[in-house]
Amino acid sequence: MLLLYNTLSRKKQTFKPQKRGVVSIYACGPTVYSAPHIGNMRTYLEQDVLKRALIRLGYKVNHVVNITDVGHLVGDANLGEDKVKLAAEREHKTARQVADFYTAEFERDISQLNILKPDVMPKATEHIREMLELIGHLESKGYLYSVPTGIYYDTSRFKNYGKLSAMSFAKLNKYLKAGARVERAAGIKNITDFAVWRLRERQSIDEMIWDSAWGEGFPGWHIECSAMSMKYLGETLDIHCGGIDHIPIHHTNEIAQSEAASGKKFVNYWVHSNFLTVDGKKMAKSIGNVYTIGDLIGKGFSPMAIRYLFISAHYRKKLNFTFDSLENVAKTLRGIYSFLQRLSEIKRAGAADPKFSKKVSSAKKEFFGEVDNDLNIPGALSAMHSLISEANRRIGNDRLTASEAKKVMAAMMEFDEVLGLEFERHSKPKEDLDERIKKLIEMREAARKEKNFKGADLIRDTLRQHYRIILEDTKDGVRWHREG
Ligand SMILES: [Zn+2]
Repeated sequence: MLLLYNTLSRKKQTFKPQKRGVVSIYACGPTVYSAPHIGNMRTYLEQDVLKRALIRLGYKVNHVVNITDVGHLVGDANLGEDKVKLAAEREHKTARQVADFYTAEFERDISQLNILKPDVMPKATEHIREMLELIGHLESKGYLYSVPTGIYYDTSRFKNYGKLSAMSFAKLNKYLKAGARVERAAGIKNITDFAVWRLRERQSIDEMIWDSAWGEGFPGWHIECSAMSMKYLGETLDIHCGGIDHIPIHHTNEIAQSEAASGKKFVNYWVHSNFLTVDGKKMAKSIGNVYTIGDLIGKGFSPMAIRYLFISAHYRKKLNFTFDSLENVAKTLRGIYSFLQRLSEIKRAGAADPKFSKKVSSAKKEFFGEVDNDLNIPGALSAMHSLISEANRRIGNDRLTASEAKKVMAAMMEFDEVLGLEFERHSKPKEDLDERIKKLIEMREAARKEKNFKGADLIRDTLRQHYRIILEDTKDGVRWHREG
């Protein structure tokens, strides 16, 4: 049983899918005009934890993440230029080239971070027909009107327009007026109204322009998500995810479009991730604190350390990123990996102590109890660490038996079904090392004994660069682990 906080009801609810055993999840994907920053990637990591928790509970998950390769304007609302086209001008490329390049970046990021690949990643530009059909449907129901710049949705016609953000229509209007980023284009009735189809401007280039019954142009950003989510997952989705910044505009507009067209509830559970700040500040190009996953890896951090840091905060809480905190979790993760390796090397005979076995099962119960309580990963991690400490104490006293170690290892592997931190890869005994690597470690030891530290460091760097083997000099001698 999974409890999930639903933004729409503003409370934790027991999750129940429409179809037994199957869950549909839609998440707003990247706008592919630049590399996603770590705040975006935090959201996808949180969603991955949700997906893994559902899979562990036995559900088949149908997961769709769209690729916005057209239609997302700089201002998020009505005016401004298309982000992808703007990047194309900046980079002297075609919009298609820009979109393809950053789509590949996104795919590389999710694979490096061990995020389970979505079942479908539909591109907006390949679903123009579905969007036009949806627009036609909305028009026939009287929700649209046209102005010189495009076809707009009349939000005053949709009952409970602000229900997701718990804002009345008047309050939402005020909210948007307060945000300087929204200007009113000529002829627009309400400031909350938004374009479902933008007509091409006379001087605009031919790229990313489609013909339609309303004239040549391109789709609005919000219509993409409504059209693609309903195409792949049906008119009612079990779960829709995204960042909390999407609540008052983008997701509110998705609801208005989808529900007006289908007459059905669009989403049963809205799950939103909170922001990520860097050094206590909002990420901004002007401050120079916008980082990508590639930036962090370039500074020598492993993707698994990044993953660990981002999932270790609760998804509904703000996460403040600092390099110190990343350094710390990288150390913690190395400790876990070397713990797993040690476990795999335990050979001590003897039956499992019933008291210790009980500790293992209670840690498991606690871990998954926390996961099932609105994905409380901080709580789950603390249950895991208390088991690790207990096992380490027994290893220290030379009391942990091989059968106990096996139980702990099995628990750790179960934890990793949700955490996705590649525990399996790090749970091999030292003996599994390649002969060449063993030889290098021995050579380094010999160099150290001869006080040839330069030579020893050279071998250590070679092991890291070529074999991803990290050496650690402990009081029990040299230990190694593979870099995550
Ligand atoms: Zn969306």
